Amino acid sequence: MTNKDLLNIATQHGSPVYVYNSEVITNQYKRLTDAFKNIEQLRLNYAVKALNNISVLQHLRSLGSGLDTVSIQEVKLGLLAGYTPEKIIYTPNGVSLQEIEHAAAMGVQINIDNLSILEQFGTKHPSVPVCIRINPHVMAGGNANISVGHIDSKFGISIHQLPHILRIVQNTGMNINGIHMHTGSDILDIDVFIYATEILFETAQKFKNLEFIDFGSGFKVPYKDGDIETDIEELGKKLTIRFNDFQKQYGKPLTLAFEPGKFLVSAAGKFLVNVNVIKQTTSTVFAQVDSGFNHFIRPMLYGSQHEIENISNPKGKQRFYSVVGYICETDTFATNRRINEISEGDVLAFKNAGAYCFTMASNYNSRYRPAEVMWKDGKAHLIRKRETFDDLIVNQIPLESLVEA
Ligand SMILES: *Cc1c(COP(=O)(O)O)cnc(C)c1O
Repeated sequence: MTNKDLLNIATQHGSPVYVYNSEVITNQYKRLTDAFKNIEQLRLNYAVKALNNISVLQHLRSLGSGLDTVSIQEVKLGLLAGYTPEKIIYTPNGVSLQEIEHAAAMGVQINIDNLSILEQFGTKHPSVPVCIRINPHVMAGGNANISVGHIDSKFGISIHQLPHILRIVQNTGMNINGIHMHTGSDILDIDVFIYATEILFETAQKFKNLEFIDFGSGFKVPYKDGDIETDIEELGKKLTIRFNDFQKQYGKPLTLAFEPGKFLVSAAGKFLVNVNVIKQTTSTVFAQVDSGFNHFIRPMLYGSQHEIENISNPKGKQRFYSVVGYICETDTFATNRRINEISEGDVLAFKNAGAYCFTMASNYNSRYRPAEVMWKDGKAHLIRKRETFDDLIVNQIPLESLVEA
């Protein structure tokens, strides 16, 4: 997928537009399965919330992936994309007992993360196999908002409550077939991660009917030169030895599961925008593009630094720009960034736009959500149309009759 291909996509499908390179997704999937090739039963459940386009789900299904879902709607998307229920794990947080029962009735693997629901579900449905999400209280990364294993996190059942978990399991006679952790979005240090897995192994010993141990995700991908990346190959080596040892100790074969989102799709995505205006102020040069945090919220929400390329002028002289959007609120994508000289009408490409970008887009400022394109077999395929004005009003129920436009 060259710059020329991207420019053609922007011309044909308009701007702004998300483009996903299926080959990058395939390569990342292979990298992960290669790193764990000495695990007899490996299961990768792609985290749908990172990027939920049905064509992306279908592509991952063709690679052999399962799905990690966090809402009943994601379960439905997965089924529509052709996944069988056995390939789907449902890992919600703070949802109602009814929604969990609904998912169980659809035949997907249930993962429960609080004692109240565990007790209620186990009492009503003791024969439905359930996975338990443990919070091992390990800080995997630096950012408290994306590190969900720490002591104040709302996710998982605290490892210190293990006696209470065991009492519920015993009293209800429920069948625990998996244990799970997801410590956060940034595994910076493999040894910290391995430390958390030890806590999970210790916990696993308490349950006799396990079929799998799910180590969640948190694989970090680089956004710019010099960024730390989780060393998947090293993690594969270390965890494989430990997991295979543990299986022997446990006395029966177990599946090792992961649920990566970002790792599989982040680098596959590019977000293409058009430069509307170059605006010089007393302190900077703004490049204002036809988008904002309504379409791409990560820089404003998490302070994420996405690289930006001027694909219309890739050989141009480099200058400093602040790249901002067009909505009526501060929507800064980049400050004081060195980019090849930008003219009005140029197309900029934001990198690492596959994960948590489109799925977090909104209609703020009454703008349409962008189109999505998948690059596959050397061709661009439109996989989601840009919204239209009708989409903005389709669910509105006006109290007075509408004016004909
Ligand atoms: C979001 C999420 C993931 C995926 O996290 P990434 O950092 O995108 O890999 C995995 N498991 C659960 C339970 C999640 O909520």
